[in-house]
Formats: sequence, structure tokens, C-alpha cells
Amino acid sequence: MIEIVKKYISITILSIVITLNFSLAQSLKVNDTDFSKGRLGNIQNIQIEDVTKFHGHLCDGLVEGFIALQYGLYALFPDSIIDRTNLRIVSKSSPCLTDLAIYLTGARYQFGTFYVSNDFEGLYIVQRIDNQKTINIIRKPNIKPAIIDEMGSQAIKGKLSPCQLDTLKQLENEYMRFLQKNDPQTMFEIKKMLNFTWSPILKNDFVKTDILNKNAGNCNQ
Ligand SMILES: [Zn+2]
Repeated sequence: MIEIVKKYISITILSIVITLNFSLAQSLKVNDTDFSKGRLGNIQNIQIEDVTKFHGHLCDGLVEGFIALQYGLYALFPDSIIDRTNLRIVSKSSPCLTDLAIYLTGARYQFGTFYVSNDFEGLYIVQRIDNQKTINIIRKPNIKPAIIDEMGSQAIKGKLSPCQLDTLKQLENEYMRFLQKNDPQTMFEIKKMLNFTWSPILKNDFVKTDILNKNAGNCNQ
């Protein structure tokens, strides 16, 4: 009896540790080839800091993409080592989500493994190529504060003052910390897609919304 209780306690502790790691660590193990004509087996660890340098800044979109996509990729690769030669992805057009998508999955527009669309539900559609397993990653309702998108769309139109831009940045940072603190299961939903057809529509006229206010002045209040 004592043994059973001990076992139960250790399993519970283990699952708490796994849950904590899952929600807090924006770090992912990936598997790549080991040289220009190489074999699979080059295991690397990707941190949020790596994607931040590629993307240009740390932001709520990048963190949201990382946590949501990591959650989805673990469902496709139960050993939690993500094979970046074996994925294709459709992303919503946000500059943050798209950068994150290509960085974590290895999928690329020019090789027919990545495209952008706003005509589907959620953030991403990801397909594991070898077994065709496909998932749709969706943010659950009422997770992202509506004010961020409301002010965001004003910012895109150039209608936010410098001080309002600072407020928006603060709100996004608060949302980013919320995402980092909480269990992905409570924030994102993964839907299996049984009859998904890969049909890339190669568009190149999406707006890069994260550079529109690059010449805005400082808030002097
Ligand atoms: Zn961003």
C-alpha cells in the first residue's frame, strides 16, 4: 500500500514538473540534417531568444506562436524532438506568427512547405509529412485581451499617438507574461484535421504590420 502511495506521489510530482516545464520553457529540441547533403540526426535546442534575433524583437505574437506551435508539434512528435525535415505549415499572416512558423518547423515558401492564409480558423495548420497527420492550432476564446487587437488595428492605420503606442506595448507585454505563466492546454486547442488538402496559395501582398510605426515619435508625458 505504502509503495502504491509513494508511486502515486512520485508520478504526481513528475507530472507537475512536466507541466511547469511545458508552460514556462520556450525551448524546443529539433532534428535537422548534419551538413549540406547530410543525414538526419543533428539535434539542436531552439530558445525563444534565437527566434527573437531572427524576428527583430520579442513580442506577444512571437511568444504566443512559440507556445501554441510547440504544444501542437508535441502532439505530432510524441518524443518531443521535432523533425524539421518532415513538416509543412500554413500560418496566419502576422509577421510574428509567420517568422515563428518557419523558424520552428523548417518549412519554407520556396520549397512548397509553407504558405500564408487568413482563410482558416486559429493560428496555424501543421502537417507531419510522413504520416499526413494534420492539426489545427486555435487560441481559445477570451484568452487574448480584446483591447490589444482593437488598439493594434488603430496602430496599423497610424492612429495611435506615441504615448498610446507605449500603452499598447505595455498591454502586449502583460499578455506575453500571461502566456508564459499558464499551461498551454488552458489557452490553446488542437483539432485533428482528417481530410486536409495541402493547397498553397502563394500570395506576397500581406502587410508587414510591425514596421508601420517605425518613425513614430517618443511619448513626452
Ligand atoms: Zn513581433
